[in-house]
Amino acid sequence: MTARRHSDKQQPLGWLAPIRNRNQQENTMSTATASTPTQTASDYPDTQLFIDGQWCDAADGKTMAVFNPANGQEIGRLAHAGIADLDRALAAAQKGFETWRAVPAHERQALMRKAAQIFRERANETARHLTMEQGKPLAEAKGEALAAADVIDWMADEGRRVYGRIVPPRDLRGTAHVTRHPVGPVAAFTPWNFPINQVVRKLSAALATGNSIIVKAPEETPASPAALMRAFVDAGVPAGVVQLVYGVPSQISEYLIPHPIIRKITFTGSTPVGKQLAALAGQHMKRATMELGGHAPVIVCEDADIDLAIKTAGGAKFRNAGQVCISPTRFLVAKPIVEEFTQKFVAQAQRFAPADGLVEGTRMGPLANERRISAMQALTADAIKRGGTVATGGRKVGEAGNFWAPTILAHVPLEADIFNQEPFGPMAVVHGFDTLDQALTEANRLPYGLAGYAYTQSLRNAHQIAERLEVGLLWINQPAAAWPELPFGGVKDSGYGSEGGPEALEAYLTTKSVSTFCG
Ligand code: NAD
Repeated sequence: MTARRHSDKQQPLGWLAPIRNRNQQENTMSTATASTPTQTASDYPDTQLFIDGQWCDAADGKTMAVFNPANGQEIGRLAHAGIADLDRALAAAQKGFETWRAVPAHERQALMRKAAQIFRERANETARHLTMEQGKPLAEAKGEALAAADVIDWMADEGRRVYGRIVPPRDLRGTAHVTRHPVGPVAAFTPWNFPINQVVRKLSAALATGNSIIVKAPEETPASPAALMRAFVDAGVPAGVVQLVYGVPSQISEYLIPHPIIRKITFTGSTPVGKQLAALAGQHMKRATMELGGHAPVIVCEDADIDLAIKTAGGAKFRNAGQVCISPTRFLVAKPIVEEFTQKFVAQAQRFAPADGLVEGTRMGPLANERRISAMQALTADAIKRGGTVATGGRKVGEAGNFWAPTILAHVPLEADIFNQEPFGPMAVVHGFDTLDQALTEANRLPYGLAGYAYTQSLRNAHQIAERLEVGLLWINQPAAAWPELPFGGVKDSGYGSEGGPEALEAYLTTKSVSTFCG
């Protein structure tokens, strides 16, 4: 991170610098397979902060390393904000809010749609950087970038449909009407599993409704959220409307949440951290949206299309190596079909041999960090200790990189950790049930309530499940669909608020009731 980067105009990405002096080993992307990626990691960018319309280093020049989870090598550095940088970001967000709230909704829409198009055009390059820093296969990374452009478009359009209403007054010499207003500068905290997607839902909803924002994006995966921000900058967003910072997560959240300039917070991450941040927000009367952990049940009834369940939920289990808040994990299967289901699920899992996400044909990449490998080891050991069996996987793959074999556990008692803790990795567990009541009771037993899946050909079962499953998202006989027009959020310990549909914009608006006596 040097000043040299600012004048590095010949670089196609103006805010980036070529990575210097760390490419000696980068052709040796050791993975679980013998394949090698088609290019080196030398094109991975360093990442700066974005404050008040400028890409900049931290005031004290501090940087942090970024590692490739496929081989453990350092691939880049990112600026690490301190309090002085946060103060600048706050002042800029206040100024940006005054600017942006005065821009008519249809002009905001036009700018956002331009940003979406710019981001779409850069999807290939952004996807490469995302795969390098996070590990997911290139096709998934590109899908995430393109889906983000779709989210921007939808939120931008929806921003034009924020209406108030006229209420018949009780005294006809006056008027009564309801108006909607942007809430004010937002602080957003986002995780590493979907570094673009988790930012874009917050950023787009905030901007579509006339707010400014400070995004604290994930330190482990900084380049792809920075690319998203850059699309808005290149589309012409005024200075101060968007800010991007990285640093020590707890230091940044503890400084921003209580700060009087910040009027709303939004967080995606684990339930324990979400509870801490929600408590802090409550203490300072800040509005909050919390998108937290889950432990999704999959109810497979006796009348289900087993192949459909295997193809959709079984396949989705290994998307992003299971590091997905809506990942299907607890497969509750009717006893008469549980053996057949498990066999087919094992065959499906074995198609997801882990490998470097840059290698063509890779269907599952490494886990994003070593903490997840330790978590997988602990869950497997606990299940075995309690008498469970490993139907497939259950082991780390290779020496270098965070590769974990797709894992299915069976015959595990419900007290085992895997039935109670979100694995956030490529691990599922199968359990037989006698009645739908039993399955629903088990599905609802946990404090989580984010996503659920069900497979049945019976309308009656489908209706029962839709009525009684305690989740914010339910998919029946189909894969998860996180379209921007649908609400996205959980209940119980999985959080509150929504990051999709018109509800997503609601979270960034206040309501004013105006009654006027006209004489
Ligand atoms: P973690 O709870 O330490 O971190 C999760 C995210 O929250 C990270 O991006 C981190 O930077 C951020 N964070 C942590 N403490 C923070 C604080 N005080 N203020 C602001 N941000 C903070 O967990 P982890 O080890 O990175 O991930 C493991 C667990 O996190 C998983 O088991 C999963 O439950 C959860 N998680 C959930 C999601 C999701 O989409 N809901 C995404 C990532 C992680």
